[in-house]
Amino acid sequence: MKRLIVRCAVLLGAALLSSCTPRASGPATEGVTDAMLANSPEGEWLSYGRDPSEQRFSPLTAISDTNVDQLGLAWAADMETARGQEATPLMHDGTLYVTTAWSILKAYDAKTGRLKWSYDPKVPRDTLVRACCDAVNRGVALYGTSVYLATLDGRLISLKQKDGALMWSALVVPNQQDYTVTGAPRIANGLVLIGSGGAEYKARGFLAAYDHRTGQQIWRFHTVPGNPADGQESAALKSAEKTWAGEWWKLGGGGTVWDSITYDAKTGLVLFGTGNAEPWNPAAAGRQGDSLYTSSLVAVRADTGEYVWHFQETPEDRWDYDSNAQITLADIEIGGKPRHVALHAPKNGYFYVLDAATGEFLSAGAFSPQNWTTGIDAKTGRPAINPEARYEKTGKPFVGMPGVAGAHSWQPMSFSPQTGLVYLPANISGFPYLAAKDWKPSAIGVQVGLESGAVAMPADPAFRAGAKAMTTGALIAWNPLTQKPAWTVPHVGPWNGGTLATAGNLVFQGTAAGSIDAYSADKGRKLWSFPVQTGAMAAPMTYAIDGEQYVAILVGWGGLWDQAYGLLAHKSGATRNISRLLVFKLGAKGALPAPKSLAALPLDPPAFTGTKEQAMLGASLYGRYCMACHGDAAVAGGLNPDLRRSAVLGNPATMQAIVHDGALSPKGGGNGMVSFKSALKPEHVEAIRQYLILRANEDKALGER
Ligand code: CA
Repeated sequence: MKRLIVRCAVLLGAALLSSCTPRASGPATEGVTDAMLANSPEGEWLSYGRDPSEQRFSPLTAISDTNVDQLGLAWAADMETARGQEATPLMHDGTLYVTTAWSILKAYDAKTGRLKWSYDPKVPRDTLVRACCDAVNRGVALYGTSVYLATLDGRLISLKQKDGALMWSALVVPNQQDYTVTGAPRIANGLVLIGSGGAEYKARGFLAAYDHRTGQQIWRFHTVPGNPADGQESAALKSAEKTWAGEWWKLGGGGTVWDSITYDAKTGLVLFGTGNAEPWNPAAAGRQGDSLYTSSLVAVRADTGEYVWHFQETPEDRWDYDSNAQITLADIEIGGKPRHVALHAPKNGYFYVLDAATGEFLSAGAFSPQNWTTGIDAKTGRPAINPEARYEKTGKPFVGMPGVAGAHSWQPMSFSPQTGLVYLPANISGFPYLAAKDWKPSAIGVQVGLESGAVAMPADPAFRAGAKAMTTGALIAWNPLTQKPAWTVPHVGPWNGGTLATAGNLVFQGTAAGSIDAYSADKGRKLWSFPVQTGAMAAPMTYAIDGEQYVAILVGWGGLWDQAYGLLAHKSGATRNISRLLVFKLGAKGALPAPKSLAALPLDPPAFTGTKEQAMLGASLYGRYCMACHGDAAVAGGLNPDLRRSAVLGNPATMQAIVHDGALSPKGGGNGMVSFKSALKPEHVEAIRQYLILRANEDKALGER
């Protein structure tokens, strides 16, 4: 930016005022063009949501409700990682572009499964310490002759579609402490758009646009105001200042744009969703007010990034109700009139229908149990917040429904123009919010301002059974006109996969229980199921080559639910990560190799020798620094080590070497956890060890092995 200002000043001297705005080099003229993106060839899948409207609806009909039971495995590819898979593959000109964990991109022959090339951006493994939710990546963008990849450590990269050769790489994040990128870039009129994650750390949200040929930044829209003393970048940010209090900019403010970006060619607008305000607990940073533009949908002009409208779904967010879930555009008839609308189902549990050009609120309906509001204003869409949900004011724990996993998160939904229904992967789960007292930011770890240790899952069988029973999921066929479900398929647990709708009257979805299933789109009849040996979170996609239709899905359990939810992470069962790309077609008979059996480490802790005070301190510190990765109440999902079973529990010196000194970190020569000595003293590490020993003994006493 500094260089740009200098150059502009020089140019101003030369009276070339108009040159001060960076200019884009113009649309692609070969390869994947804007016209192709807007009207995708029937058999291809050219962008993350298939079309710019992000409907994830394929017009292919070769596989239909009459023959889907003959679908079988055509080919499979091992993703060579044990971390979560969230990407939707793209297919163009016979090549399938797939991203896996650590932002690695692979290009396959879409018919045979032969690997054509792969590109490893070599993301430093210690980036994981600032990634709330695993080393995941959700996919790429295709434009011209390039494929665009965003990496966990915040680079936007252009590669040649043909052979993966590097064209350019641009750093899009302001620092290497607080930001990660997991989302798929999108294309708008020759610009490559990307935001970032990090609102659980100290990030200031943004959406940025880059020239597709050069990687030059064309514009950047910040979602929250910066320090007023420095002036704001736009009038929209200036007017947002009054919705904040305290010194919010010191912790970044949040509002990160970590998933949804939708380009609307009809209006020339880019719509995107923003994440929570930072920290979650408003009192932890003296935050008051709505905190614009967090937990909102925002529309800016695609060419300039200039603010046009916003709609805040969750004012004064303190529950991590990110509005980042995918935004789907549709043309539907409301009250006899055609309307061009944005359909949105964010984490807060309400389904919204807005006018896509103006942001006008049209309707909302709760698609999941919720207790954070007492209702929504039918005219404005503003929620009436349940006073008990303001946990920092009551000082009491609030078990929020939905919880931080959200009633619907990044797992994509699909919309069928044939049925008029939205196929929504919904979570039914809560989360205990308790404000931390005298909270101060730390140099490492999540910065949410909660006291999680005090409300961790207790070693009480009845309580655990109750929590498990209320934690479920569903595939909901939602009618946006009536704001009611047309049909619902209940699932064992939450965190099931995204969906795909097709003109063959089908809906496909992977599940946390380890299957990919197909349903009739109109009635929700289950027509096909294939066991995939691991939880499936990502959305399936479909394509056709030589008249033959294929369905592809990335499987491999992980992400937020696996990492943070402890005992509940295991609700659906298939928590072992086996990361694969699976491709199906009619009549194929392929089989997956049987999974190797892995003996679980026994639950065999040493005796608890600590004090009660030590265990309480350890619980609090564990809740703040360890839980996000190793699980609530020290019960891990399938991804990161279950510390109750660690041999280190009986060896305090090794525990210190790992947690305090970083013996397993990349800098220490390992490939694991970084040092936490910037936040934890040796006596803190010992308190955490004693807490882990206590927890392990409690669960052993309950009969766990
Ligand atoms: Ca968030």
